[in-house]
Parts: sequence; structure tokens; C-alpha cells
Amino acid sequence: YYQLFANPVFQDEVLSGAIVVIMDVTEKEQRDALRREFTTNVSHELKTPLTSISGTAEIMGNGLVKQEDVPHFANIIYKEAQRLIALVGDIIKLSKLEEPDMTEQKEMVNMAEVVESVVETLEVPAAKKNISFLVKTEDCVILGIPSILNEIVYNLCDNAVKYNVEKGKVTVSLKKKEKRTVLTVEDTGIGIPREEQERIFERFYRVDKSHSKDIGGTGLGLSIVKHGAAYHNAEITLESEVGKGTKISIIF
Ligand code: ADP
Repeated sequence: YYQLFANPVFQDEVLSGAIVVIMDVTEKEQRDALRREFTTNVSHELKTPLTSISGTAEIMGNGLVKQEDVPHFANIIYKEAQRLIALVGDIIKLSKLEEPDMTEQKEMVNMAEVVESVVETLEVPAAKKNISFLVKTEDCVILGIPSILNEIVYNLCDNAVKYNVEKGKVTVSLKKKEKRTVLTVEDTGIGIPREEQERIFERFYRVDKSHSKDIGGTGLGLSIVKHGAAYHNAEITLESEVGKGTKISIIF
């Protein structure tokens, strides 16, 4: 995309030439297009749970629900509201990552501690599916933003539980490799088809929407991981096989 500016130049009131400026605005156009797409997606994602909440509350208010069915309908409202809270939370995190707040300074972060605290918060959902965690950490300290690093580890481990099978395993390892720190989260879950592997880092992209709907999630987790990794100059690698599992590494 190019933007063209042209201005005539006069000398003694006679047209003697022109100044022409041609600007390459491709990057700006691409950014604007992404932003427009994001806004459309956000509006759609917000509208779905809101419509459900509004509809359910309406029939309850009209007295159309039998007393014994009230908990069921209240639960629909609760779940959709929870979905909205998660969605708004993730949108805020993503937009913060795009314009990182300069007040949030980088500091030395003990990654082993981050991994431990994340695994602790996932104990309950993991236990519900009889999933066991294996944690292998070396002492790794990196310069980064604690909240973002926590978010990266959390989203990867959360997915490793969510997309795992009953009695599956999640292995989280933290290793020093030359001058770098490698975080790897590996699961024995459903895996990701080859043709979808690049797309899962896109905003709101979810493999098999109908199936993912039951699993729950915003479709923003891996976008947060991608932006968070980029913010720390880290690279991401992914290996996955359908029916076998997924391994994602972040190389800081
Ligand atoms: P979500 O909130 O849907 O989990 P993410 O951005 O974290 O959003 O992931 C995007 C999609 O990538 C998921 O909906 C799922 O289809 C797929 N995915 C992510 N992690 C895994 C994994 N460990 N195993 C299988 N599929 C995964």
C-alpha cells in the first residue's frame, strides 16, 4: 500500500515543478486491518454470552421456568458470565501486551518458582481428569516481566490439562541450554492437526470450535503466549501429533 502526496511548485507564479512524496504504508494498513478484524471478533465473542444471559434471564423473569429448573437456568447465566469475565480479562492482557506499560519494569524472575505456583493453581482441574504433572526444573532466572511470564506458563499448562485425556500426563521442564533458558510443556492429549498448527497462535482461533466450546476457553491464550514471548525476545517451537500429544517450548 502506498500513499501519494503531490504539491505543485511555482517560481515567479509559473509552474516550475512538483514535490511528490510516496510513502509505503503497508505495515500501517496491515496493523489497521488486524485491529478492525479484532474489533469484529471481540464484538461477536461478547455478544454470544450476552445474548444467552439476556434470553435466560428474560424467561426466568417471565415466570416461565418451573421452580425445580431454576438452578439449571441460574447456572447457565453464571457460566456465561464467567466466560465474559475470562474474555474481558484476556482482551485486557492482550492489549496491555501490545502497548506494554512502561511502569512495569523488567526484573529478575525465578522461573522455577513461576512454574511451581502455576502447577499448584492447576491441581484441582488436573485432579478432576486424573492428570498427573511431572515437573523438572533447574534454577533459571531470567530478566522479564513477572505477570507476563506467569501468563505464558499458565496458558501453556492450562492447555496441556484442558486438551489432555483422562489419566494423561503433563511434563513441564525448565532447562539451561548454552546461554538460554528453555521452558517446555508437553502433554499426552488430543494433539493438533498439522494444518492447524500455525493458526492456533492467532487471536480467537480454536481447532474444532464445537468441541472446544465444551472445554472452555477464550481462544486468546496462545496469542498472549506469542506476544508475551516476543516481548521477551523468546522463540516458540511446537511439535504435535493428533492422538499423541503436544509439546511447546519457549526459548528465552
Ligand atoms: P483456548 O482458550 O481455546 O484454549 P488458546 O489460544 O490457548 O485458546 O488455544 C487455541 C486452540 O489451540 C485451542 O482452542 C485448541 O484447539 C488448540 N490447542 C492449544 N493448546 C493445545 C494442546 N496442548 N493440545 C491440543 N490442542 C491445543
